[in-house]
Amino acid sequence: MLGGMWTGQKQGITDGEMDGQVDVVVVGAGYAGLAAALRLKDEGIDFVVLEASGRVGGRVLSEVREGGAVVDQGGQWVGPTQKNLLALAERFGCETFPSWEEGRHIEVWRDGSRVAYDGAAPEAGPGIDDYCRVTTLLDAMAKSVDLDQPWLTPDFELWDSQTAESFFRAQTGDEDAIRRLALAIQGVWSCEPREISLFHVVFYIAAADGYEQLMETRDCAQDSRFHGGAAAPATALAVELGDRLCLNTPVEAVEQDEQGAMVRTGSGVIRARRVVVALPPPATSGISFTPTLSISRRGWLAHSPMGRVAKVHAVYTQPFWRAAGLSGIATVYDDGPVGVVFDNSPADASMGILVGFVYGDRVSDWAERPAAERRAAVLETLAAIAGPQATDPVDYTEKIWPYDEFAQGGYEAYVTPGGWTGYARDGWRTPSGVIHWAGTETAGRWNGYIDGAIGSGYRAADEVLAAMVDAR
Ligand SMILES: Cc1cc2nc3c(=O)[nH]c(=O)nc-3n(C[C@H](O)[C@H](O)[C@H](O)COP(=O)(O)OP(=O)(O)OC[C@H]3O[C@@H](n4cnc5c(N)ncnc54)[C@H](O)[C@@H]3O)c2cc1C
Repeated sequence: MLGGMWTGQKQGITDGEMDGQVDVVVVGAGYAGLAAALRLKDEGIDFVVLEASGRVGGRVLSEVREGGAVVDQGGQWVGPTQKNLLALAERFGCETFPSWEEGRHIEVWRDGSRVAYDGAAPEAGPGIDDYCRVTTLLDAMAKSVDLDQPWLTPDFELWDSQTAESFFRAQTGDEDAIRRLALAIQGVWSCEPREISLFHVVFYIAAADGYEQLMETRDCAQDSRFHGGAAAPATALAVELGDRLCLNTPVEAVEQDEQGAMVRTGSGVIRARRVVVALPPPATSGISFTPTLSISRRGWLAHSPMGRVAKVHAVYTQPFWRAAGLSGIATVYDDGPVGVVFDNSPADASMGILVGFVYGDRVSDWAERPAAERRAAVLETLAAIAGPQATDPVDYTEKIWPYDEFAQGGYEAYVTPGGWTGYARDGWRTPSGVIHWAGTETAGRWNGYIDGAIGSGYRAADEVLAAMVDAR
């Protein structure tokens, strides 16, 4: 056995003396890397986690603001079928509370008109019939998807050769239905319908077990939030990993040889028998691999750009919109930056928080504007939804994910047309020698979500464990 005692911490990472050897190096301490590490720890494997940034959680980033508000700048919600995340939270004693959805929801249309509705989704309004017909069709298509070997799906190539946009336009000529469908793509995949493979959309719906699961709140993906923020389980897990977790340690290169791999960082080199890389695709492409990755793996990464999203929070002394009978939930079809708004107040409503999402094409223009203009444009939309008091928050914060050094976008990477067909069979998550691939983008269940990230970490760790047993 090659793995020996991990001595990197004892030697002091900060003074550049990190060299050591372990059985497994895990690259990345988002939920995928952390889950892989936890499984390895539970199995008594000698490992170390190398994380580029100064914190754990990756695309989950819970921030305590000066006034005490906790805002989730990245991933935040958990749904009842996301068993990996719920079990992890339970293990570390992290509790959830239901997302607020009482009151009337609002749709804002292009002409500025505001339409209030009750219930989970609008039952009337421009384009609603064709929107429902097309999404029902997507759901039916999703039932045929093979989640573990997606290339075995009967219409795999046909669907992967189209964009969501071309499919929508073939199904309906109703521009309002197209607008609704476009907002759904932006809202779930944070890209435009013209950019994403239809197969990827259908696969993703299947991975969540239905379109409604992706879109709705109660009993669906937006069901609950975490007290203290969605990074709470990650932070607790990091404590358990102790000195096996090295922050501020970006991996620069992974070189495979007969004995395993050399993992190079700015502070030293670690020899490992196996490596789990748990990064989003652009970050993976930023690492130098020797030998070079296969054409399939590189093709897959090249066809997996990150979505583009910004999350904005406005904090108020109270959730004043609730007194007016409003839920704070809104979908916005006008030309402003914000597409969707939710009430993100704490469970005890001790303050009021609205969260807005800016995504797809909307974020590209908005993000380049001066900060004051960005803020004014967001608050204008919040006022249209919640009332004029919304223009005067006690705190305002935004996180523009395409500018994040490590994630380079969000929520997740989507696959462009032809990506699945050309490269997935060998490039999606098949190990490359002693390198095992994790990260939410490699998940077959809840792909793109925290739950999928955790599941991918467990799967990669299980691959490692099986390989180590085989090597005995
Ligand atoms: C705005 C936003 C909202 C979202 N909302 C939700 C939601 O409500 N619910 C939900 O379930 N999901 C949500 N998601 C998606 C969810 O956050 C992600 O699916 C999940 O966090 C991905 O985890 P991961 O471990 O696969 O990747 P990441 O979290 O990206 O982790 C990768 C880690 O690798 C590190 N890294 C990068 N390069 C290197 C390197 N060279 N060496 C070492 N380390 C490196 C990064 O710093 C990072 O910590 C949202 C995402 C965003 C951005």
